Amino acid sequence: MTSVSPHKKARALKSTSRRPAKELCSECGLCDTYYIHYVKEACAFINQQIGELEEETHTRSRHLDNPDELYFGVHQDMMAARKQQPIEGAQWTGIVSSIAIEMLNRGMVEGVVCVQNTKEDRFQPMPIIARTPEEILAARVNKPTLSPNLSVLEQIEKSGMKRLLVIGVGCQIQALRAVEKQLGLEKLYVLGTPCVDNVNRAGLQKFLETTSRSPDTVVHYEFMQDFRVHFKHEDGSTETVPFFGLKTNQLKDVFAPSCMSCFDYVNSLADLVVGYMGAPFGWQWIVVRNETGKEMLDLVKDQLDTQPVTSKGNRKEAVQQSIPAYDKGVTLPMWAAKLMGVVIEKIGPKGLEYARFSIDSHFTRNYLYVKRNHPEKLEEHVPEFAKRIVGQYKLPE
Ligand code: FAD
Ligand code: SF4
Repeated sequence: MTSVSPHKKARALKSTSRRPAKELCSECGLCDTYYIHYVKEACAFINQQIGELEEETHTRSRHLDNPDELYFGVHQDMMAARKQQPIEGAQWTGIVSSIAIEMLNRGMVEGVVCVQNTKEDRFQPMPIIARTPEEILAARVNKPTLSPNLSVLEQIEKSGMKRLLVIGVGCQIQALRAVEKQLGLEKLYVLGTPCVDNVNRAGLQKFLETTSRSPDTVVHYEFMQDFRVHFKHEDGSTETVPFFGLKTNQLKDVFAPSCMSCFDYVNSLADLVVGYMGAPFGWQWIVVRNETGKEMLDLVKDQLDTQPVTSKGNRKEAVQQSIPAYDKGVTLPMWAAKLMGVVIEKIGPKGLEYARFSIDSHFTRNYLYVKRNHPEKLEEHVPEFAKRIVGQYKLPE
């Protein structure tokens, strides 16, 4: 007699139904599948369990007394890297797409969960299970919007796939790790990116309209290490706007409530993380968390230039000053913002210190957000490592 898995009796929610995490839902996609059965344990916003899942995934949780692990999570190696031949149209140099393509070409996996965009809208996410290199390439570049990557999970079991790579951001990966054992896979590989300040599609429109000179032609953008937002337009031109000139008063409500209460910036549960913020300008930042991550990175090592990570400057003063500025929604006049951008770029934090600057600024802001909007969640929801990071600063009441 064959038994039916308990989750198969569960039913996905309709796309219009309110999610169990309510306004904190990041639309990770889990609730679009019968794995909603596990939502109370699995949802990153209902049951924060990074420490436990680190132990299951990496055999141990991060050493809180090791300063690099406190910030960047469990890891065995970190480096700066860039592809010798960048992939045209990728977010940075295309290391993520290149690893996924190698894994598929070498038969290590049968499919890759990644996110393309719809035909009508370059920023509307469309998660898929890619089975060809072309489909992976079509998913390159960030969709800077909440993306239901896990909505394709039911298809895995139905397809009979046994070896899978999932590409995703922290909240998606937390829920994925929590249901990993239910997926019936022989091997799951997880390639993560850092993620912060994401928005829903309407929020993205507002951000583009308040910040860019030509919102309709933006192809992609990034908050970069030179303290500017870099927009790339359809005609290939680049537009830069200093962080300190952002219209914080208008943008305060743009970021999704999930991202305002997230403390997994660095994607703690992925095997390998590829971002940029701990690396020099133009380079990508790589965090190898475990042996599986090393195996994945080794596949493309001969396509990369690499260099050790470095760290320069002191972020603390800049972070402390940004706390009340953000809290009160202060916007500097553009000339002052530009000047501040130039000064801070010359003397400001670089390399890993820039990554710490970004983590500290976001964690202090998010801590205050949770404290004010969901005080009953503060104790359980904020992981111990984030409490220690936030504890270095003086916060307003
Ligand atoms: P590519 O080869 O272009 O591949 C990009 C991959 O990202 C694709 O496989 C695609 O499936 C996946 N993807 C795209 N959009 C999403 C999405 N919304 N959800 C899940 N997966 C997606 N790095 C930092 O160091 N600091 C940051 O603050 C930071 N913020 C980010 C915010 C967002 C919303 C995202 C998606 C990424 C962020 N990153 C950040 C990661 C960084 O921007 C690059 O994605 C990463 O360095 C990989 O670049 P690449 O050229 O190798 O990727
Ligand atoms: Fe469901 Fe994911 Fe939303 Fe949590 S974040 S309620 S798991 S869709």
